[in-house]
Amino acid sequence: MKYIMALDQGTTSSRAILFDHSGEIRSVAQEEFAQIYPKPGWVEHDPRDIWRGQLEVARKAMKQIGAKAEDIAAIGVTNQRETTIVWDKTNGQAVYNAIVWQCRRTAPMIDKLVAEGLSAKIRSKTGLIPDAYFSASKLAWILDNVEGARERAEKGELLFGTVDSWLIWNLTGGKAHVTDVTNASRTMLYDIHHRCWDQELLDLFRIPACMLPEVRPSSCIYGTTSEYWFGGEIPVAGAAGDQQAALFGQCCFKPGEVKSTYGTGGFMLMNTGKKAVTSKSGLLTTIAIGISEEVEYALEGSVFVSGAVVQWLRDELKLVDASPDSEYFATKVKDTGGVYLVPAFTGLGAPYWNQYARGMMVGLTRSTTKAQMIRAALEAIAYQTMDVCTAMEKDSGISLKSIQVDGGASRNDFLMQFQSDVLGSVVCRPKCVETTALGAAFLAGLAVGFWRDKEEVKHFWNMDKVFMPTMTERERQKAIAGWHLAVDCALRWGEMERKLQENE
Ligand code: ADP
Repeated sequence: MKYIMALDQGTTSSRAILFDHSGEIRSVAQEEFAQIYPKPGWVEHDPRDIWRGQLEVARKAMKQIGAKAEDIAAIGVTNQRETTIVWDKTNGQAVYNAIVWQCRRTAPMIDKLVAEGLSAKIRSKTGLIPDAYFSASKLAWILDNVEGARERAEKGELLFGTVDSWLIWNLTGGKAHVTDVTNASRTMLYDIHHRCWDQELLDLFRIPACMLPEVRPSSCIYGTTSEYWFGGEIPVAGAAGDQQAALFGQCCFKPGEVKSTYGTGGFMLMNTGKKAVTSKSGLLTTIAIGISEEVEYALEGSVFVSGAVVQWLRDELKLVDASPDSEYFATKVKDTGGVYLVPAFTGLGAPYWNQYARGMMVGLTRSTTKAQMIRAALEAIAYQTMDVCTAMEKDSGISLKSIQVDGGASRNDFLMQFQSDVLGSVVCRPKCVETTALGAAFLAGLAVGFWRDKEEVKHFWNMDKVFMPTMTERERQKAIAGWHLAVDCALRWGEMERKLQENE
């Protein structure tokens, strides 16, 4: 067999990539899908768009190179994490739209739990900081707000899943209701140490256990595709949340190895091996990967809005026609003229964890130009990652001399150079920035023996470009101080908003 197919179901688009035996991309198909914003701070997807779009790109990627089902050794799935779907197990109809990880509708539910003093308990079991970001409160919201959902769930008629579960259930024609350990670790219902759904948390969120998927390793055969989809049965043999898949695809197999992804959100993960490290600096402890019965852990810093700020410049402000044009504008000016943009559109993630912070642009003058605003947006992506990096260095006690990058916006040379400058570290970009898909392919390929072991796939990692820091320490400290002042403004604004909401 010639290929492994990775299905990469991202926040803004679905992609299918066929990799050959040497880890080279042989075919790619991609499709963006609709983002649904019913209210400020709410984000949804239509689960049918997710499934149909993913199926379509998979078929297209195969057709482009004339690949048949029998040419594909296995499928690996990787997905936007935490996004929550509930569907009817008899007909596959979702009872509500997918509630996307970015959605803030359940922030008050989380505030209540925090006020009740439950943070430490949730943290110790799940490794997560209580936040609306994770699946638990989103699932609870669906059960509480969709008419009849709770009764039907209790009767065993409804299934819950993150996007991996939803895709695998559909791919296997409803035969496999599963998730992998990495995705389970993002639900805030899964005990990452004992590795089981946690009854106490299920009770807290009033979630019937019968609707939960079976938790499996990230690399194993979950089932085979229904013949109908691709004209033959293909084993579905790998699954991991997008960030964990990227860590694996970057071959960060050893403790201390780090990758930073610049997609819709920004995510830095450090492999911590068999040890689940508890953060003191606002990072999450999560499962990095599960192979056979073993799991490895990671420290993670998540930034909610990363490349998405460029999409905002493109779609809402119409300042650029296409995301890559941001680089042209940013390099037209020598600096931002003192302008900082804090893209706290959905609150701030690590290391601040403030659900109420909102976006802020400060330092504007009459001479501020469009190019400076665009540059400030790109710089903000790098500053946010820098904050996470600082936290990671504190928690791990390791000084990060170099990081490996990937994701759509890592193609932006200006951004990567600025990242290297504000970090004062080397930034290494691999030739294949589709590391998320590559990671999913590795997992599937290893499960079916398409590749022998991790050593073999390690050779597929090739360097594209290295960025070295060029800023003086004085310039760096000045730039960072300005950024932290701007973040402070966004946090204070959020505090005001929260008080207003409380008084309403
Ligand atoms: P996801 O998998 O989360 O959907 P991707 O890894 O495909 O995201 O990255 C897409 C994001 O990166 C978009 O938000 C887009 O605006 C941004 N992006 C893509 N290319 C560039 C670029 N050259 N410069 C800046 N941002 C970019």
